[in-house]
Amino acid sequence: MKNNKKYIKVCPQCGSTITKIPPAGLDIKMTQPDYCNECNNRGIFPEVEEERVEEFRKELKKKDNKSLSGV
Ligand SMILES: [Zn+2]
Repeated sequence: MKNNKKYIKVCPQCGSTITKIPPAGLDIKMTQPDYCNECNNRGIFPEVEEERVEEFRKELKKKDNKSLSGV
């Protein structure tokens, strides 16, 4: 059983994988929210298996008008 799949953080808003720690993120001891470089969305982004990122994006487009409260 392989258990070393690579996970990538994906912005749940625009599907971008270009994410980073917020510039003002000095609270290192806490769970750091992620920051999207594309749409400036902030929050805790879901980690998606690298090979499923495209799938995730497709799902995002389908649910475009749905709010992301159920994360
Ligand atoms: Zn984004």
